[in-house]
Amino acid sequence: MKLSKAHLKTLREVPTEAEIPSHILLLRTGMIRKLVSGVYGFMPMGRRTLAKIENIIREEMDAAGGQEILMSAVQPAELWQESGRWYAYGPELWRLKDRNGRDFCLGPTHEEIFTDIVRNDISSYRQLPMNLYQIQTKYRDEARPRFGLMRSREFIMKDAYSFDRDEAGLDESYRIMYEAYEKIFTRCGLVFRPVEADSGAIGGSNSHEFTALSEVGESEIAYCEKCDMAATVERAACTDAPASDEEMLPLEEVYTPGTTTIDAVAEYLGLDTKQTLKALLFVKYNEQGEEDGYVAAFVRGDRELNMTKLVNALDIPEHAIEFADEERMHEATGCVGGFTGPVGLHDCTIVVDSEVPGLKNLCAGACKKDHHMKNVNYGRDYEADIVTDIKVLAEGEPCPVCGAPVKYARGIEVGQVFKLGTKYSESMGAYYKDENMENHPIVMGCYGIGVTRTMAAVVEQHHDENGIIWPISVAPYHVIITLMKPEDETQAAVAGRIYEELRRRGVEVILDDRKERPGVKFKDADLLGIPIRITVGRGAADGMIEYKMRRDADRTDMTVEEGIETAVKTVEAERFGGVKE
Ligand code: ATP
Ligand code: MG
Repeated sequence: MKLSKAHLKTLREVPTEAEIPSHILLLRTGMIRKLVSGVYGFMPMGRRTLAKIENIIREEMDAAGGQEILMSAVQPAELWQESGRWYAYGPELWRLKDRNGRDFCLGPTHEEIFTDIVRNDISSYRQLPMNLYQIQTKYRDEARPRFGLMRSREFIMKDAYSFDRDEAGLDESYRIMYEAYEKIFTRCGLVFRPVEADSGAIGGSNSHEFTALSEVGESEIAYCEKCDMAATVERAACTDAPASDEEMLPLEEVYTPGTTTIDAVAEYLGLDTKQTLKALLFVKYNEQGEEDGYVAAFVRGDRELNMTKLVNALDIPEHAIEFADEERMHEATGCVGGFTGPVGLHDCTIVVDSEVPGLKNLCAGACKKDHHMKNVNYGRDYEADIVTDIKVLAEGEPCPVCGAPVKYARGIEVGQVFKLGTKYSESMGAYYKDENMENHPIVMGCYGIGVTRTMAAVVEQHHDENGIIWPISVAPYHVIITLMKPEDETQAAVAGRIYEELRRRGVEVILDDRKERPGVKFKDADLLGIPIRITVGRGAADGMIEYKMRRDADRTDMTVEEGIETAVKTVEAERFGGVKE
């Protein structure tokens, strides 16, 4: 491609709304363009990189036995009502009506559609196992679209679905996808970590997230350096403190004026926060969006409540619960803002963290303004509707597997794999007949990759202050020839010869033949992050060029032939990715 003829609009200024490197650089290079909040288009260079990522995914999915199909974004509500997710998915589901008032949504994911396909097309065990996938545009009306491609409302996903006759088959399909994901992200040049994950609104029992390590990532992961435990913080189990063998002391109400926080009451009474009980109050909503009762959750004073574990314990979707207005809640349940404890609380679901029953003589709110209770003991003074792990595994806490101190890292969730089991096949009636003509629900798995988010994640891991540094496997072009003086006939001829020769040998090459100052050309080449730069300047008369890798600082003078050979070799070695820098 000759840059003088190309559509390329790079920006000198950093767009103000862009906060993280990938968002800033993808806008500055002109690779993506914003239409409205959370909705982006892809300009020529951006489209090329996107296609490279899609092709890596396609090759590895095909190699793993997947078959590509393409389903529509528009999905009828009936299928979602059948699976129960028309309600469970909540406000992120982008709903619309046709002119006759019939309900539809723009697919945020396609479990229902793929289950519908197999319930119509698969009838026998002979057709199993099967893996179908697509690379397709998804819609999620995110509450806070941000960071460009990272969290958008329209984005491209690869979603695959596996269909097996039993759990053992699913385990094998899951393993194959897990390994394909490792190859895909390695080929894209990402440093990543697979971690155990919660299965969220998709449902199912077993799941891993693939997390590209990055400071700007929204996923927090807890991992252990001693064993191989790694999980999202949402998911990570937390070991209970050992049960105390203290004697239970008599319950005692104490005056604690103005101590509405754990720290304040602990300080006022001279206690460790570990000797206190923290209350968190919520209101629940039913499917019609009406208030549907209150929830009080209790954890040890120094712990944080884990919302994912709480909604899983209550078996409700995340959007069906929010923090309660304690003043409004007072009459119904007896709670008192800042002074709520389990004793005296009524008419609400009480959820207590699993370690709390083992702790003795805790200090909790007295459900009375400016008062706390000392020596509150589970079993003697109150009981709970649910007792289970609802606490966050904090950094430094013992690893739930081996006990070593846990570390935290941040990352970008680029993919997730789930064992769905028979959730969709049973609710939607996808059965196969075995050898004895007996019916069984098809056992399913589903596997997503955020294609556009992966593009952003690659930029997060591969950039410097001057711009992007694309790995060769996903670069929009492999080589840029910077022609210093297009009006100089010798230079133009040499550059043209290199351009043709590289193209002939399968290298994707840009010729920067614009009538711009060399400084501008170098800046753009660095910003765009083209992996190899060949500069054709004064040396052209003697058959010399300057060769530079975007990722390295040094430049080398070479003959034209050497330059061509080095570029071809480097591209051949790295075009399929997976090469460590
Ligand atoms: P998140 O927790 O980040 O909201 P998710 O777990 O809801 O994502 P999945 O349902 O697992 O997402 O979707 C599969 C993949 O699609 C994710 O791993 C992610 O890479 C990508 N993805 C999900 N939501 C978005 C979004 N709003 N913008 C871009 N990519 C997304
Ligand atoms: Mg996910």
